[in-house]
Amino acid sequence: MSQFRTTTPHMLRANKEYQRQTLMGGLSGFESPVGLDRRDRIEALRTGDLGFVHSWDLNTSVDGPGTRMTVFMSGCPLRCQYCQNPDTWKMRDGKPVYFDAMMKKIERYSDVFQYTGGGITFSGGESMMQPAFVSRVFHESKKMGVHTCLDTSGFLGATWSDEQIRDIDLCLLDVKSGDEATYHKVTGGALQPTIDFGHRLARLGVRIWVRFVLVPGLTDSEQNVENVATICDGFHDAIDHIDVLPFHQLGRPKWHALRYDYPLEDAKGPGAALLERVRGQFRDHGFEVF
Ligand code: SF4
Repeated sequence: MSQFRTTTPHMLRANKEYQRQTLMGGLSGFESPVGLDRRDRIEALRTGDLGFVHSWDLNTSVDGPGTRMTVFMSGCPLRCQYCQNPDTWKMRDGKPVYFDAMMKKIERYSDVFQYTGGGITFSGGESMMQPAFVSRVFHESKKMGVHTCLDTSGFLGATWSDEQIRDIDLCLLDVKSGDEATYHKVTGGALQPTIDFGHRLARLGVRIWVRFVLVPGLTDSEQNVENVATICDGFHDAIDHIDVLPFHQLGRPKWHALRYDYPLEDAKGPGAALLERVRGQFRDHGFEVF
């Protein structure tokens, strides 16, 4: 997933936090292929000529350093209870976007990226689900001198080659819980791929910002936080800092609109004392924590 924020701009125009963070976005400016049959699309996905995109936005200090173009890709293999973007789960619900159109858009903002120390961030959904497209965009961006950032759970890390990973400057790695049982409860998936991916990132010299979403009653136990911190210890000095992201309910209307059963219907965000306790646990491991 993305940083713990909701994506769909049209649903959030009235939201002050979204307005503060984003300058523009949606799906404007991308040519969409017409007349491609299913087989053509599958082939284009395989080569990275085409990606399925939910939306994009331009933001500052949200999904990496500087001003960034964040592209939310469609498709996700996990089903996190606290997901704020269930509208990104199915790849087929995204809009097909050509690689060339994406690069044109990045080129258009390259001066802004240089000036602010920003760049391109892929988020989702789970953008690692579309490895050919995302890694091709990263590779081309690097050639243009644009900073690259991947926001991911790491669940699909084993499907990426070392060569593809080397084009990532920074990874926003969601460590959603610290033991297999809790992780499975939170996400429906397995924890070990995230740990393995974190180790690979560290070995390949990719900087990491760890993200941990704090949900009272779900991820907040001292033992769970301690386990996450211990996992982070294993990534050694690849971690720049850890973001503890307080749960919020901005995504709830999407669950309703999609008619999905929302397991956290009545959940509340953490209070200041809980937030401080959890941040303190990570600090006790020597990490810088926000
Ligand atoms: S299900 Fe989880 S990993 Fe997938 S988009 Fe939602 S929060 Fe992110």
